[in-house]
Amino acid sequence: MNLYEYMGKDVFRKHGIPVPDGYVVEQESDIRPFQKPVVIKSQILLGGRGKSGGIKFAKSEQELKDGVKQLLGSKIRDLAVTKVLVEEMLDIKKEMYVSIALDRTSKSPILICSAEGGVEIESVDHDKIFTRIIDPLLGYSQFIGRDAVNFMKLDPEIGKQFISILAKLYEIFNQEDCELVEINPLMIVGNGKLVAADSKMVIDSDSLFRHREFEVIDPEKTPLELEANSKGYSFIELDGNIGVIANGAGLTMATLDALTLHKGKPRNFLDLGGTDNSETVAASFEFIMKAKPKSILVNIFGGITKCDTVANGIAMAKTRFDIRQPIVVRLSGIRDEEGRKILKDAGIDSFPSMMEAVERVVKITGGN
Ligand code: GDP
Ligand code: MN
Repeated sequence: MNLYEYMGKDVFRKHGIPVPDGYVVEQESDIRPFQKPVVIKSQILLGGRGKSGGIKFAKSEQELKDGVKQLLGSKIRDLAVTKVLVEEMLDIKKEMYVSIALDRTSKSPILICSAEGGVEIESVDHDKIFTRIIDPLLGYSQFIGRDAVNFMKLDPEIGKQFISILAKLYEIFNQEDCELVEINPLMIVGNGKLVAADSKMVIDSDSLFRHREFEVIDPEKTPLELEANSKGYSFIELDGNIGVIANGAGLTMATLDALTLHKGKPRNFLDLGGTDNSETVAASFEFIMKAKPKSILVNIFGGITKCDTVANGIAMAKTRFDIRQPIVVRLSGIRDEEGRKILKDAGIDSFPSMMEAVERVVKITGGN
């Protein structure tokens, strides 16, 4: 999961990495009185905002208002700008680059830095880039920082600050379960201080249960997805009209494929996982109902999940949420005969074969 710049900078601030003073603006009334020149930065999950017109500079109250107005509600390379970050303008002396990423080859964190920053690291000469794999058991030590400072030929005062920032960056990488934490540019400003002028953070999505504060604001998820995820369901909204519930990510994907093959349009992905609890099944329909599908397809292959448990959950949901849309169920596997009887009593169609169920639901949903 990617964090917005302002979210990453909040993390930096919390760990003691210097960041510019600033605030987030979502509407014009959030603009604070103009005091000194500022930078207005679109909060979108894309780099290269500078080059794409996503960053504006303002030297007066009027320029600040105009800049915010231009950016808010605009689209930058297809991404809508709903928030901007207004920050004190920095007086740049030099732009550097530093990041810690997860290196898949060595299965370890890797430190990458360069005295040349402000541009994409890919475009910096290889012989100007310092890289060092960090042993995850030993962690970061000052000597790694000193090696980097020598390589980059930083003067001692800057070097000291750089080493201190590296230690904090490693702390963030570890504590926040990052796949990447990047400062580009790390600026040397007029008074000789280092300031993180930008932030990029990618958090391992599988660690979000340890970081609920990020989960509830995941900018890449819809409100309904966040709600379902917080209840433990793997749920993704799509733009069709057939609600989908299946067990196991693989079977859920196969269900979406089968629907698409038969010209059906799935409204969502919902994986029940390996539950064998009727209540978990019943409760999952809350999110399906909120997605307002025209019909619902449940595709269950009973193993850990027994078919009669699922059937009971579906029958419960039908009453609880007063479901009027047609529900088509594919049940096969452990206790499927029992399950089918429960569904029949509840007035719900079921099939042993996935393709039959898919064809049926597409047929009754109709075109569009
Ligand atoms: P990105 O292009 O999306 O990575 O956005 P950045 O935050 O890295 O900003 C891009 C460039 O804008 C930086 O490399 C700087 O050259 C410039 N910039 C950003 N903030 C400031 C600032 O406070 N003062 C000045 N003078 N330039 C800035
Ligand atoms: Mn940048």
